[in-house]
Amino acid sequence: MKILALILCGVLSLASVNVARADDGPPAAWTKPSKPYRVVGNVYYVGSEGLSSYLITSSAGHVLLDAGMSAEGAKLVESNIVGLGFKLADVKILINSHAHFDHAGGLAQMKAGTGARLYASSQDKPALEKGRHFGDNENGLTPFPAVKVDRTIRDGQKIKLGEATLTAHLTPGHTIGGTTWTLSTTERGRPLNVVFFNSVSVAGNALIGNKTYPRNVSDYRATFAKLKAMPADVFLPVHPEQGDLLAKRQRVLRGDNGAFIDPTELGRFVAKSEAAFDKELARQQEAAK
Ligand code: ZN
Repeated sequence: MKILALILCGVLSLASVNVARADDGPPAAWTKPSKPYRVVGNVYYVGSEGLSSYLITSSAGHVLLDAGMSAEGAKLVESNIVGLGFKLADVKILINSHAHFDHAGGLAQMKAGTGARLYASSQDKPALEKGRHFGDNENGLTPFPAVKVDRTIRDGQKIKLGEATLTAHLTPGHTIGGTTWTLSTTERGRPLNVVFFNSVSVAGNALIGNKTYPRNVSDYRATFAKLKAMPADVFLPVHPEQGDLLAKRQRVLRGDNGAFIDPTELGRFVAKSEAAFDKELARQQEAAK
């Protein structure tokens, strides 16, 4: 997949530029083990050092968001879940941020390892079931292990499992069916809106003349507007460095119980992303002249 593949999820546009350019494949951090931990309430980080996976627990079983970039990555997530004392067989529902290899490539293995059912947007379903990117992108198809979607979800739909209720918010653009998930939880008696933020970077997408995804620019615009209006006490992105999660975890270990709580962070990140989008759109418009 070489360097182009890792551009897909936008680490180049916002962070990790040096890492990306120094390597000819996905960043080593994407498959590097990371110690799992509880973030807030019933939310646990179970991903690698560079790719997020989140476990949302309940007394009736658990929901897992994303499963790494490959079977190997999924096994790392599995060992993190077990390492926290949870059973793989209690993972009942798999959900996905978006159908790109780095967040969806481990789903097939995770389904086999847990027996869970995969819920995904109807718009990203074809890409998940074909195991490739959908839409014109300079990086090509960036294939990954295909996985069957058991149930499609629509914008605003709630998924309930025990006392956990997740809400799907379609935030397309980066992919045609990208989904930001939200959850209400409680930390030390304080109610919190948790946002599992999906990628909004351009990441090689053709913004001019995209034949297979012609409305992607208007989708990005609607997504930016939707995210700016979303209440978010806790910002949990699909790449941990986008939310400085490791640094926040260190603050918690030093006794700062509020390290993951920042109601301004989502808005700031979206504003930064939209500025990067405008710049890239202008570049592509200039190149198309
Ligand atoms: Zn992506």
